Amino acid sequence: MAKIVLNKSNYFHNLKIISEHAGSKEKVAVVLKDNAYGHGLLEIAKLANEFGIEKAVVRTVEEARQIETFFRQILILADNNLKTYSHSFHIVINSLEDIQRLPENTNVHLKVDTGMHRNGISVERLEEAIHGIYNKKLNLTGILTHYRSADELSCEFFWQRSVFKQVKSDTKIICEKLLLPIPKFHSANSSALFRFNNYDEDIVRVGIAQYGYLETNIIFSNPNLKPVMSLWADKISTRNIKKNEKVGYGGKYLAKKDMKISTYNLGYGDGFLRLDGTQKYITPKGHEILGRVSMDNISVNSDEDEICIFEDVRELAKLQNTISYEITTTLNPNIPKEIR
Ligand SMILES: *Cc1c(COP(=O)(O)O)cnc(C)c1O
Repeated sequence: MAKIVLNKSNYFHNLKIISEHAGSKEKVAVVLKDNAYGHGLLEIAKLANEFGIEKAVVRTVEEARQIETFFRQILILADNNLKTYSHSFHIVINSLEDIQRLPENTNVHLKVDTGMHRNGISVERLEEAIHGIYNKKLNLTGILTHYRSADELSCEFFWQRSVFKQVKSDTKIICEKLLLPIPKFHSANSSALFRFNNYDEDIVRVGIAQYGYLETNIIFSNPNLKPVMSLWADKISTRNIKKNEKVGYGGKYLAKKDMKISTYNLGYGDGFLRLDGTQKYITPKGHEILGRVSMDNISVNSDEDEICIFEDVRELAKLQNTISYEITTTLNPNIPKEIR
């Protein structure tokens, strides 16, 4: 099987830039859903903890349990099946029905739909939701929203921000009437964080930027982040082929000269998105992936024992017409990780 190498100094470099922009390490919640975007849930949780990060965001209670010891607070985005509970868990409420499902005293963050229309209660039902939380004796610790266009140059980001500003002031008034403490407010993901000049919210939910990417329009002054993940594969066999011989399924690669090629132990079965032989992908050291990617093999014009497939996924993302998130997140969680 292939191997993922995590570059610790690049990871710390990114966390430093992110914490400085957010204002402090305490504000940063690292988003570790989906196996830390393919980087390894436990590996990244340990590193973030070593750097001094205290908050994390995951999708399920099961993920939260696995990393419980590393964080003071864990936000759970989409799971209200609380068989095991910890004081460090904070559950996101995505609908009014969620309020009825949760047991008394659960810490909750209420999600408000300020325009993305994916999850959260509508702005008009804010008061009803907070009263519902109060009556159900849930512990309202946060209010959040999510932007649909933080990465694009448009007025939508500013429009959602102003809607959320209103939500904040309404929340304060409602909570004062109920004698409740004011919850923490947060709205920004990676791209939104870097569009604030003075980040004035309590928490920032940073996913992709910690891993070294930001898919924001290049018009914004983007920080100098460094990719954390590189993907490596080991040689299975080597052969010499002659000019005009073809390689792999469909014979999509045609040798223009006599050459030495090898197969390596990586394929779409490992979650490495399939190249179909029409795209030309060159590895960081200048080797070419020849023809189609098989389930467990790729052919490359190299005879090195180990090759680096990528150390920056942007090139592959462009070839595959997708985003960096998808290239790293689809990688099989069983691929061994090494921290260097
Ligand atoms: C995944 C997710 C994030 C992180 O987004 P990035 O663009 O990776 O920084 C933040 N908030 C919510 C609600 C998410 O689902």
